[in-house]
Amino acid sequence: MRKTIKEILRQGKELAGETVDVKGWVRTRRGNKNVQFVALNDGSSIHNLQIVFDTEKFPEEILKSITTGSSLHVKGKLVESQGAGQSVEVLAEDLEIYGTAPADYPLQKKGHSMEFLREKAHLRPRTNTFGAVLRIRHALAYAVHKFFNDKGFFYFHTPLISSSDCEGAGAQFQVTTLPLSDIPKNEDGSVDYSKDFFGKMASLTVSGQLEGELGATALGLIYTFGPTFRAENSNTPRHLSEFWMIEPEMAFYEIEDNMDLAEEFIKYCVNYVLEHCYDDIKFLNDHFDHELIERLNFVVSNDFVRLPYTEGIKILEESGKKFEFPVHWGVDLASEHERYLVEEHFKKPVILTDYPKEIKAFYMKLNDDGKTVRAMDVLFPKIGEIIGGSQREENYDKLSARINEMGLEGMDWYLDTRKYGTVPHSGFGLGFERLVQFVTGMQNIRDVIPFPRYPKACEY
Ligand code: ATP
Ligand code: MN
Repeated sequence: MRKTIKEILRQGKELAGETVDVKGWVRTRRGNKNVQFVALNDGSSIHNLQIVFDTEKFPEEILKSITTGSSLHVKGKLVESQGAGQSVEVLAEDLEIYGTAPADYPLQKKGHSMEFLREKAHLRPRTNTFGAVLRIRHALAYAVHKFFNDKGFFYFHTPLISSSDCEGAGAQFQVTTLPLSDIPKNEDGSVDYSKDFFGKMASLTVSGQLEGELGATALGLIYTFGPTFRAENSNTPRHLSEFWMIEPEMAFYEIEDNMDLAEEFIKYCVNYVLEHCYDDIKFLNDHFDHELIERLNFVVSNDFVRLPYTEGIKILEESGKKFEFPVHWGVDLASEHERYLVEEHFKKPVILTDYPKEIKAFYMKLNDDGKTVRAMDVLFPKIGEIIGGSQREENYDKLSARINEMGLEGMDWYLDTRKYGTVPHSGFGLGFERLVQFVTGMQNIRDVIPFPRYPKACEY
């Protein structure tokens, strides 16, 4: 029976003497006129299985067609390996070639640049690096569900097509079936959305939070985990136009409970991959980022610093650093400020709280000072903001005043959670790709999702 290479290598010498049946893609072939060695990988693990071909048994013209990238089915005896580098290998007895790969196969050599691989994104999952990243991504997604399920949270599905544009989190992509070359207009020249598919303007969601609050004020503890879309022109290594977000929302949680949960959650996820994906993490550590494992261990074993925004600003002002964007009370922090606090000042993850209300969303709970809101951003080394969250305003009058002040319309459904049986509640949003980026040490967020979307890039 066929086994994955991961399973064969796990059992290792226990299988010595047995016939194994493996299938996979050729990474390399080398050797001499007596014997040829093929490194076979089937995606189950970062490690390859070495297949040994005796040239007396397999004629040269057949072995020559086993090029890098071709796909094979091999049966043979598993034996302890003579060579260094692997403990077991397979002495090939039967060979079936599913498909050869001509010499123009783009992934010939090791060490292609990330930029080159981005242009070959349809094939890059076959490289060691992307294999490792994608296996880790899977494990993280599983850890997210496991963490929340084990804590009694319910996975709540919020819509991807939304008619509310009140999150204020970012520009939205519009969803329409109106003919773009002949858009129906009202008398005043505005678009007549009554003719559109939904009879009104609709967009792709930038966040599931507002709908998530409806879930939390009924089920108590919920989380969302789905794609979100932002049409902002952010060409940075930390922004995508389509990314996945995890948004827990908790009834009866104050801001401190929210911070405790965020910290526990991130540590759980990092621990999970250290435990379950060590080989992949080690590969990335050895090949790209020699401090990766150290950084991950550091994050799970240290308390995050908790600091009010006002004190953070003081530290930045007194740092004597020349920032590209000048800093004073009231500014939204740029990545350089966040990273100064985390990487240079505290040398630890920081949870920054109590931001000025002007730079935060309308739904955040106002503090007694009337100037700041109960926001919390979790700031991480290398990444900057990894989580944004807050305690929500649960007071009907304060919230509706704020909604009017901002000129937001069509929010009655949201205000109903405060009108009927309102409760203190909190939540946060974690950008899944930023978490994958942190855990893998990848420099660019475009390299932690199989098919990245960003301005002027929408392939496949
Ligand atoms: P930033 O200031 O980094 O642009 P934001 O404040 O706009 O982020 P929020 O609206 O608070 O982000 O979204 C919650 C989380 O979603 C962020 O903490 C981040 O982890 C993630 N995130 C936000 N925008 C993006 C994006 N364009 N691509 C990937 N992840 C994102
Ligand atoms: Mn934010």
